[in-house]
Amino acid sequence: MSTVLVVEDESAIAELIAINLRHGGYEVRQAANAEQAQAALAGVLPDLVLLDWMLPGESGLQLARRWRADPRTRALPIIMLTARAQEDDKVAGLDVGVDDYLVKPISPRELLARMRAVLRRRAPQALDEVVAVGSLRLDPAAHRVVYEGRHGALALRLGPTEFRLLHFLMANPQRVHTRAQLLDRVWGDHVFIEERTVDVHVKRLREALVPAGCAWRIDTVRGVGYRLLDDADDQSLARL
Ligand code: CA
Repeated sequence: MSTVLVVEDESAIAELIAINLRHGGYEVRQAANAEQAQAALAGVLPDLVLLDWMLPGESGLQLARRWRADPRTRALPIIMLTARAQEDDKVAGLDVGVDDYLVKPISPRELLARMRAVLRRRAPQALDEVVAVGSLRLDPAAHRVVYEGRHGALALRLGPTEFRLLHFLMANPQRVHTRAQLLDRVWGDHVFIEERTVDVHVKRLREALVPAGCAWRIDTVRGVGYRLLDDADDQSLARL
C-alpha cells in the first residue's frame, strides 16, 4: 500500500483529503505545519506528499525547496495544494521542483488521477501495476513473479522482502541505487537497519532468480550500490 503525507493546516480540508485518499487505497499520514511534516519525514519516507502552500510559519514552498536540496528527499514526489490561482505562484512552485500543482477547491477524482500520474513518473513501485523487464513479469497485486521463457512460464518463489526489492528495482531499472536509498524505499527505514541487510537480501534475490537464469540482472556497482540491468546489458544476447 502506498503512503501519502498530507501537509495541511486546515483540519476540515485535511480530513476531506484523507478520507478520499483512504477510499482510494492509500495509507494517509497527516501534518498540520512544516515542523510536523519535517518530523514525519525523519522516519519512513512516504511515497508522495500533498503539500499545502499556505502553512502557519514556514510555507509549503519553503519546505519543498528545503526537501529538494536534501539528497534523501530530492526525488520525493510532491504535489502542491494552494488556494491561489495566479500564474506567477504556479511558476514559483514548479521552479522549486514540485511535480504538480493543484488549485483548491480540489476535486477528489482529479487529485487521485494526478497522484497516479506523478507516481507513475516518479515512483512507479508505489503503484499496483504489473512491471516487466525482459522475460520477467512482476504483478504486485497478485504478489507473483513469473519468468516467461521459451519453454513456458515459470513462477518464481521469493520472500516478501526480496519481492519488494525486485519490484523496486524492476520499476526503476538501469538506475543505480545506494544501500541507503534502498533502505528508504524498500524497507522504509534508513535509520535502524544496517546497510549490510541490503546485501543479504540482494544475495537471496539473486538465488531466487537463478531458476529463471536471470540472476545477472541484479548488478553490483562497486562502492555505490545496486541496479537492475535490462536486455541491452545481456552479455549472452550481445554475443549472438
Ligand atoms: Ca493552509
